Amino acid sequence: MKESFLHYIWQNKFFNQQNLKTNQGNSLFIKRTGILNTDSGPDFTNAQILIDNILWVGHIEIHKRSSDWYVHGHEKDPAYDNVILHVVYEDNMPIYNSNNSQIPTLELSKYIDKNILKTYNKLIKNKALLPCQNDLGKVDKMLLINFKYRLFTERLENKYLIIKKLLIETQNDWHQIFYETLLKYIGGSVNKEAFELMGRLLPYRIFIKYKDNLLKLEALLFGVAGLLNDDKTGAYYRLLQNEYRFLKNKHGLNELPPGAVKFHRLRPSNFPTIRLAQFARIYYQTDHLYEKLLNITDKEQAYDILSASASGYWDTHYNFDKQTKYKKKTTGTDFMNLILINVVIPLKFAYQQHLGTYNNEKLIDLIESIPPEKNKIVSIFNKINLPARNALDSQAILQLNKEYCSKIKCLSCDVGHFILKKGLKNEY
Ligand code: SF4
Repeated sequence: MKESFLHYIWQNKFFNQQNLKTNQGNSLFIKRTGILNTDSGPDFTNAQILIDNILWVGHIEIHKRSSDWYVHGHEKDPAYDNVILHVVYEDNMPIYNSNNSQIPTLELSKYIDKNILKTYNKLIKNKALLPCQNDLGKVDKMLLINFKYRLFTERLENKYLIIKKLLIETQNDWHQIFYETLLKYIGGSVNKEAFELMGRLLPYRIFIKYKDNLLKLEALLFGVAGLLNDDKTGAYYRLLQNEYRFLKNKHGLNELPPGAVKFHRLRPSNFPTIRLAQFARIYYQTDHLYEKLLNITDKEQAYDILSASASGYWDTHYNFDKQTKYKKKTTGTDFMNLILINVVIPLKFAYQQHLGTYNNEKLIDLIESIPPEKNKIVSIFNKINLPARNALDSQAILQLNKEYCSKIKCLSCDVGHFILKKGLKNEY
């Protein structure tokens, strides 16, 4: 049993409070459990209890065993002198504070509901991707809906924390942040890190100088990606190579190490060559790209901006100097949705939070209009009673899996709380 479970039991008063007695034989009544303290010091502060009808105000310390008090050295620490009650699962010895006063003990194992213990153990010992899957059907539908919105907002807030760090690093350069985030997601799961690094090696302020010259934009991207270092003979390749050599010298650019950009395990339409050529086109064809995407109100407006074809050479190539059948390499709807979900919406949220103009309803309407993402986690959750009907649902599922289920944080999860409460034999 984890101490966090005892915190949870104490905080929610999930134990029988009738005829409570301390292990010293005094009657005990809990008026206030106190405020959970996540810093150093006692676990709950500002609690109020009555011992033999006398009011005590102070801190509560919780341990699995009483002897843990000495294991943690609290008997020498004056910060624990105001502990008014030691709450333990098992009382195996009396304890004293630094003034040598004995601290009353409540032994929870005498009062705790065994059903909640059983439900908790079932949850934390289940190795399935979604340990509560068998109980999910019993969870209140309204609770699930509300939790889903909370998870989605939490996910955006987590991304906002990353953007806040980038704002410090870039001295509030929103264009640079948007540009490198877009590059990162254009890289897909295989080239995400490499493309993100490219955003730093080739800063936005240099890239955007060549906005009106598609060949130069491509040369910069392919060059910094380390894709122009070979001895190829094709005219287009040589042209890009010459452009890049000149621009590299002019701006003192560095490129990614050889092999950093990967092709293996990728479908040809996702090759980094194609994605970089589409990225160049997106910037080339739209003035004020960042501002326009930030101001979209529906997904069709975003599709108009993000729909972009790689330059003509790529109609018959997926890689340099290897000719293939003609096919226009235009960004598809799945790809544009991915950019909307992972770049445009988080940046919109962050920018509005930054300005204090966040409009929850409009952003939710937008994300709910986008189809759900297709990935392993979402499809597994779909099969076990948690279907994703739109991108808000799939983002909520990813957040639930990443931040709760995989970290076994059932005690902080609304679903877990519902199931544990339902598992109680009595309402307390
Ligand atoms: S964290 Fe929540 S959803 Fe995940 S297994 Fe635990 S109770 Fe279920």
